[in-house]
Amino acid sequence: MNYLSTRGHPDRKRFCEILLEGLAPDGGLYLPEHYPQVDTATLAKWRELPYAELAFEILSLYIDDIPPADLKAICAKTYTAEVFGSDEIVPLRELEDGVYLEALSNGPTLAFKDMAMQLLGNLFEYELARRGAELNILGATSGDTGSAAEYAMRGKKGVRVFMTSPDGRMSPFQQAQMFSLQDQNIHNIAISGVFDDCQDIVKAVSNDLGFKRKYRIGTVNSINWARLLAQVVYYFAGYFQATASNDKPVNFTVPSGNFGNVCAGHVARMMGLPIQTLVVATNENDVLDEFFRTGIYRVRAAADTHETSSPSMDISKASNFERFVFDLVGRDAGKLRSLFVDDLGRHGRFDLSADPAFRQAAERFGFKSSRSTHADRLATIRDTDKRFATLVDPHTADGLKAAREHLAPGVPMVVLETALPIKFAATLVEALGHEPARPARFEGIEALPKRVVKLPADAEAVKAYIAQNCD
Ligand SMILES: *Cc1c(COP(=O)(O)O)cnc(C)c1O
Repeated sequence: MNYLSTRGHPDRKRFCEILLEGLAPDGGLYLPEHYPQVDTATLAKWRELPYAELAFEILSLYIDDIPPADLKAICAKTYTAEVFGSDEIVPLRELEDGVYLEALSNGPTLAFKDMAMQLLGNLFEYELARRGAELNILGATSGDTGSAAEYAMRGKKGVRVFMTSPDGRMSPFQQAQMFSLQDQNIHNIAISGVFDDCQDIVKAVSNDLGFKRKYRIGTVNSINWARLLAQVVYYFAGYFQATASNDKPVNFTVPSGNFGNVCAGHVARMMGLPIQTLVVATNENDVLDEFFRTGIYRVRAAADTHETSSPSMDISKASNFERFVFDLVGRDAGKLRSLFVDDLGRHGRFDLSADPAFRQAAERFGFKSSRSTHADRLATIRDTDKRFATLVDPHTADGLKAAREHLAPGVPMVVLETALPIKFAATLVEALGHEPARPARFEGIEALPKRVVKLPADAEAVKAYIAQNCD
């Protein structure tokens, strides 16, 4: 399988070449040259497989530069009941007639990002050992991504993590999750500033090409194709649990921010998994909902990005969206470039409302969308507790609300549970008056010793710290 850039760069690459890379050289995103097609006989075979073997089968269609036995071992080591809490890995539960929750948040950091990041950690360690190379991952986090990356990379040979976060701005639980890690290859850097300062520092360091090369700086952000590919697997696993046979359609609702999770659903659908509808659920930051309603994609300025109670969906620009638009415009790289480089780059928006391609978003690709507010979130959390004795986190609540607006008779609706409620306890307290239960392994983590350095919002200070700690 070869990978191409959405912006038309002539080079073609293999999986392991793009594994450790971010954007393509022309600023585009990597996608496979085609989506492998899965027929009903294959689906029938896959239906019987445990999760790790299903992951191996799907990954094998996209990865041909790791020997199959090695890839199989990596999948088996990643998706275990010890790490993800059950043999099903992503157990499905019926909430009410025809509406299901797929649990993706029982990994080490209690958010769905573990599903991909745990695999990425093992792939990185494998590939770096094979090359005899090292990688220093530099990131910025306001919560979920940083902790998922740290728990995936802790103790891994050849990898160090330098994770910046805004000092004092994460929830006490999120801070404790990250700062209590004592592994020598994990470095927490609390920056005196806000999340945007952290992101600016990462950009500044990455733009210093001399430094970047000398210290082998890499990232683990959500545009990484391997992360997206890992997420394709749980759409198949959810489908098999929600249906008794492979002729039945299913709908999915996906709480969305950077469009990584739901883009994996799009890939699964393109491969032939019988998904009828993919519902994109947003919060008050509704760039994606606006696009699917109107055909206009209008990114927001940082100042117009709301701080909401589903903070992991607070995005102004959906970094994976370009992948879907590439398919939407018939994989025409010239057209894609004119939308993303000319229109979006210069004017902060593009408009497909009059383009026949836009109608295909719903008709051919199955996309629908909804938006939620803080009041909706609280109401959904209360209602789900009262009627089903089930606690959902604010992001999953946005998903449930959106799902109910797009139910189709006779078609199961699977809502992806993207985090456990304990990660967002303050909103649960606001809705219910009490804290959600906390898994036993997280009892008392706020009191553990913390491993963190505080630095000013200054890229030079961060560079000096990285240099000191890379020997
Ligand atoms: C990251 C995240 C999301 C958004 O996922 P995308 O892939 O960025 O669309 C939703 N909910 C939670 C809890 C997250 O951590």
